[in-house]
Amino acid sequence: MRVGVLALQGDVREHRASLERAGAEVIEVRTPRELDQVDALVLPGGESTAIGKLLDTSGLRSALTTRLDAGMAAFGTCAGLIALSTHIEDGRADQWSFGALDVTVRRNGYGRQIASFETPIDVLEVGSMVGVFIRAPRIVAAGPEVRVLATVNRDGSDDPVVVRQGNVVGCCFHPELTTDVQLHQYFLKIVESTALSATA
Ligand code: GLN
Repeated sequence: MRVGVLALQGDVREHRASLERAGAEVIEVRTPRELDQVDALVLPGGESTAIGKLLDTSGLRSALTTRLDAGMAAFGTCAGLIALSTHIEDGRADQWSFGALDVTVRRNGYGRQIASFETPIDVLEVGSMVGVFIRAPRIVAAGPEVRVLATVNRDGSDDPVVVRQGNVVGCCFHPELTTDVQLHQYFLKIVESTALSATA
């Protein structure tokens, strides 16, 4: 079982280290050929507009659309969640997304860089951890197929921060910036069960 980290921009090294610590074999994915070699993909945090442009120019946009349509497991954090979402608020006019997770995200919905924060979070099926939010997207709506695994209350409103739809997981914060790899382990379990059901 090999897990890819989309390596166009953002927290690539950190995700790689977390996945390796969680026991995965990891390769960095920059081309459609590299995508062919992985069973699942992590889309890191960074800058979603830059990642979107590089997905287009690398040929990965269509290759990844095909893999996601075929049911590949994916885990998007922060900008990676934005890339997987169905709707983006406050995006650039030409900003697109894969639509693999039926959520509406508002870019920088928790405020600008200066409003970054850390908070304890209990994630259903996973455990307790500290969430590091940096210019994080805010999930402002989630469709009926989406399971909310954790919420955070900021400014009086409880909003989802970890969500799952089938074998696609999204998270508003940065699990790769702590030494806690529970969410990565959770994702690897999903990848394993997807691989098992494909061979069953
Ligand atoms: N605000 C960034 C964006 O829209 C995401 C921030 C992050 O990934 N830390 O792409």
